[in-house]
Amino acid sequence: MELMFRDDAYLKSCPATVVSADETGIRLDRTVFYPTGGGQPGDCGLLRLADGGEVKIVDARKGETLDDVLHIPEEGAALPAPGAAVEAEIDWDRRHRLMRMHTCMHLLCAVITGDVTGGQVGDGKGRLDFNLPDTQLDKEAIAAALNRLIEEDHPVEPRWIADEELEAKPELVRTMSVKPPSGAGKVRLLEIEGVDLQPCGGTHVRRTGEIGPVRIGKIENKGRQNRRINILLDT
Ligand SMILES: [Zn+2]
Repeated sequence: MELMFRDDAYLKSCPATVVSADETGIRLDRTVFYPTGGGQPGDCGLLRLADGGEVKIVDARKGETLDDVLHIPEEGAALPAPGAAVEAEIDWDRRHRLMRMHTCMHLLCAVITGDVTGGQVGDGKGRLDFNLPDTQLDKEAIAAALNRLIEEDHPVEPRWIADEELEAKPELVRTMSVKPPSGAGKVRLLEIEGVDLQPCGGTHVRRTGEIGPVRIGKIENKGRQNRRINILLDT
């Protein structure tokens, strides 16, 4: 399956052909739907059929192989036949909010010194857990540092490197909980110029300015060394 979002996260729809369809999910030959992974939720949206009908897609999940995406239809939906031509269209407003928050998570990694042990991107909100023993975190200082990086409008670019190069530079891996997409001989890195570089297979905005202002929600203690920082989009 061709994963269109890998090269262009701004694609809202694409024409595709149904490969298979059953209650576990619909497979297409290509898709703009990002499947749940790397702390980012799967896309929802719809498949438009040639006869004017549509199938509502409530989630997208990874299938059996690296490039396999299962489009999960709404319960009780009539399934399209294999070979049918469809237009696959994501809920763009939701996806764009996820992209803004996901990109902001990379900025937070650059602002906080400490290993990331987990994280979750949500709609309009997100959180990252850091391994930070005995640290007092200043909410206002974190918010100011994040919003400064956002206002500086840094370019955000994915690029690929060979597996061996990443093995030689393990310091590129900032997150311990999320294994980078690997196995095809190359790894996708996300670079925010001058700010952050780490393996990531998710979807991001093109420039940090597009994130818009953010604020810090609760900072929670999750275990002796684990600090959970919650972030909210302000607009
Ligand atoms: Zn990312």
